[in-house]
Amino acid sequence: MLLLRTLSSSNLLGLRSLVSRRSRLALHSSSMDAVEESLRKSLSEKQSAVEAQGNAVRALKAAAVTTSASKQEIDAAIENLNKLKLDKASIEKQLQAHIGGAGRDGSISKEAFRQAVVNTLERRLFYIPSFKIYRGVAGLYDYGPPGCSIKSNVLSFWRQHFILEENMLEVDCPCVTPEVVLKASGHVDKFTDLMVKDEKTGTCYRADHLLKDYCNEKLQKDLSMPPEKVAELKHVLATLDDLSTEELGAKIKEYGITAPDTKNSLSDPYPFNLMFQTSIGPSGVLPGYMRPETAQGIFVNFKDLYYFNGNKLPFAAAQVGQAFRNEISPRQGLLRVREFTLAEIEHFVDPEDKSHPKYSEVANLEFLMFPRDLQMSGQSAKIIRLGDAVSKGIVNNETLGYFIGRVYLFLTRLGIDKDRLRFRQHLANEMAHYACDCWDAEIECSYGWIECVGIADRSAYDLRAHTEKSGVPLVASEKFSEPKEVEKLVIAPVKKELGLAFKANQKKVVESLEAMSEKEALDMKAALESKGEVEFYVCTLEKNVTIKKSMVTINKERKKEHQRVFTPSVIEPSFGIGRIIYCLYEHSFYMRPSKAGDEQLNVFRFPPIVAPIKCTVFPLVQNQHYEAVAKSISKSLTAAGISHKIDVTGTSIGKRYARTDELGVPFAITVDSESSVTIRERDSKDQVRVNVEEAASVVKGVTEGHTTWADVWSTFPHHSSASQDD
Ligand code: AMP
Repeated sequence: MLLLRTLSSSNLLGLRSLVSRRSRLALHSSSMDAVEESLRKSLSEKQSAVEAQGNAVRALKAAAVTTSASKQEIDAAIENLNKLKLDKASIEKQLQAHIGGAGRDGSISKEAFRQAVVNTLERRLFYIPSFKIYRGVAGLYDYGPPGCSIKSNVLSFWRQHFILEENMLEVDCPCVTPEVVLKASGHVDKFTDLMVKDEKTGTCYRADHLLKDYCNEKLQKDLSMPPEKVAELKHVLATLDDLSTEELGAKIKEYGITAPDTKNSLSDPYPFNLMFQTSIGPSGVLPGYMRPETAQGIFVNFKDLYYFNGNKLPFAAAQVGQAFRNEISPRQGLLRVREFTLAEIEHFVDPEDKSHPKYSEVANLEFLMFPRDLQMSGQSAKIIRLGDAVSKGIVNNETLGYFIGRVYLFLTRLGIDKDRLRFRQHLANEMAHYACDCWDAEIECSYGWIECVGIADRSAYDLRAHTEKSGVPLVASEKFSEPKEVEKLVIAPVKKELGLAFKANQKKVVESLEAMSEKEALDMKAALESKGEVEFYVCTLEKNVTIKKSMVTINKERKKEHQRVFTPSVIEPSFGIGRIIYCLYEHSFYMRPSKAGDEQLNVFRFPPIVAPIKCTVFPLVQNQHYEAVAKSISKSLTAAGISHKIDVTGTSIGKRYARTDELGVPFAITVDSESSVTIRERDSKDQVRVNVEEAASVVKGVTEGHTTWADVWSTFPHHSSASQDD
């Protein structure tokens, strides 16, 4: 948000990710949809009707004392009043459910559902609050054993789906980054959020979050708020990112917002840089930061990667690694943390040709898209064919469209529910001025719609910024088959004159002159011709210098060119792996009654590629022979590369199934004879019978997707769920 303000109030180049970094949890669910609007309207009408009827009843009762209002009349009026009150309560209930209370199927509240998921995740060590025995640190979490397996499965599928599929060049750069790199990218100056402090205790809060919470709470709790007030709060929510520091401070004061924990008054908002600072080496003279994203490592390596790729475009580089953001007040559990895994792709492309050779493979996909115009007119996301969105210019170009389609396939294959996944286009005010188009893959969970993947066409901004700061041209070239005659602007600094005037700074002045855009150079030429000298800002010196007419010649010349040199554009899909995994947990979780019906059992319906363990092996009862068979199957599974767990405890089979359902293990092999075993599928609880020798290969086939459970079911003798477990 701050960056946006900074950008619009100056002509400084912006920062690559800040505009999108304000991962706006659930913000866009705040715009009023048609259902909410109509419910609020009915509620307000009903409220007026209740008041009017209340008055009528009072009037009748008063009249009864003096005149002849009959008891019958009064009873009828009261009955009518009670009916109106019931109607009002029913609308209130519907509105409450619509704006936040109930779970997806209306059965349990979102909070209760989340609590059930989180309890299971913590109890089964999917994650652990880091440094728990020392009472933990907000925003830091460990992945426990099943969590580690899931993360590794998600990343390995990511590598297969993106890196392998597109022949991307993977790099692995350090987390510790020298200041100069993040200065060039803009993070040192602008990677900030606005913070307020409790004036008595000094506790820090994110200013926009407090305002957002205030508005959301009011909207949810005060259902009889007048429509103008509802509209005002909705407007504040929708324009939260546009508020200047002063406007944000003024709103906090106007609404009387205080510190949530103590109700003390709050300081004015001020910017806080989110990077963790450090110094590299013992001397303390080389400042550095823990990287807030992985992408910069790719940009600074562009020249070598381009060469490695045979000096050809397009190509993509990718990096998976830790990113660090010192979030002001992390909340929403695993969604906003201080250290997280990012998987980023930088696809470099000729700005004059953003077609993609494999675009046709995704053009027919249809899914929920939420273009800018639908958001602006208060409508909801719609199912749109990707090819139509690109051909109508809703999505800026084919390559961006291609990646949107690939991200859709990636997320749905992982197990994200396609009905709770939408691609939301950034509004004009959310995008950096240099960006052509940005879309976020947002996944709906109990916290609302969460930005999990950002897909942005960032034009040439990042490579230009590093070219300027490092002096190393990060450019590509296109060789012409025949030389072309072109009119070119030639900037020729007169080094001798510049040396006399600027001594040791001559080189930096020369580089800055040569880096001028055509417009800047022509403006300088005009100024030199009319005034004889001009003030010129040299960013590497961070000051203005005076350039005289004798120091540079600027002319348009006709030249034969053999190649075109240009800065590539970059299209960047950026994946927050932890957020995707958390949403996957929520989308996969369900509860079902035990066979006896006396308890609710938890299940994660992870697809096999994600499941932390693919299979369990149980002897039905404790018995030496069965145990030997289980061990031999376990050996075959290991040889086949299938992660599994063998459980030879005497616990009842139903309990053992339940334990592994709760970890999301898709298949269980139960040894109940020495020649054949059963294989049980987690969600249907159906079982097939296979020979001992076949068990490992059947499980391998179905977990690796070579066959389906339906195939296995029709191939082998089987019996359906009801008979066996629990
Ligand atoms: P950004 O560079 O801000 O667009 O972030 C890229 C991706 O990182 C987002 O789409 C999120 O999925 C993820 N992300 C950003 N901030 C956080 C955070 N504090 N905790 C977890 N994930 C985050």
